[in-house]
Amino acid sequence: MTEAEVIQLLRKQHEEYFPKTCGNCGRQYATLREYVLSTKRLWPATSYDAELRHFNVTAERQLGGMAMANCTCGSTLALSTKNMPNAQMLALLEWAQAEMKRRGLDQNEFSDYLRDEIRQQVLAEPAGGNTKSSLETGNQPT
Ligand SMILES: [Zn+2]
Repeated sequence: MTEAEVIQLLRKQHEEYFPKTCGNCGRQYATLREYVLSTKRLWPATSYDAELRHFNVTAERQLGGMAMANCTCGSTLALSTKNMPNAQMLALLEWAQAEMKRRGLDQNEFSDYLRDEIRQQVLAEPAGGNTKSSLETGNQPT
């Protein structure tokens, strides 16, 4: 896998959660872009460690992505990669392990890096665009 493929894959996983509604205040985030713009990033989140029980959550922590952020009301919203097929997740993990070693980054640093890349990509796109459908018809790794 390449870094571009990994970022696209993670981003697509996150975008499947939108529109997302905050369970606390009821605010709805229509798109990942709106979420990135409106929420405060929260990472690493210590309360999240309690949930490191199964494989995909562990993988998500290693791979970063958007992961967790605070709604404007202060409530924590989480995006996960739990819908990702295990084979795909394993390929991602393998790539991540090799890259962390190569770049001399630890898990948190690498997660931060990936998440920032996704955020930048999302924010670089014009507002109001239909990012979800453009992603689905975009250049996908097969
Ligand atoms: Zn809220």
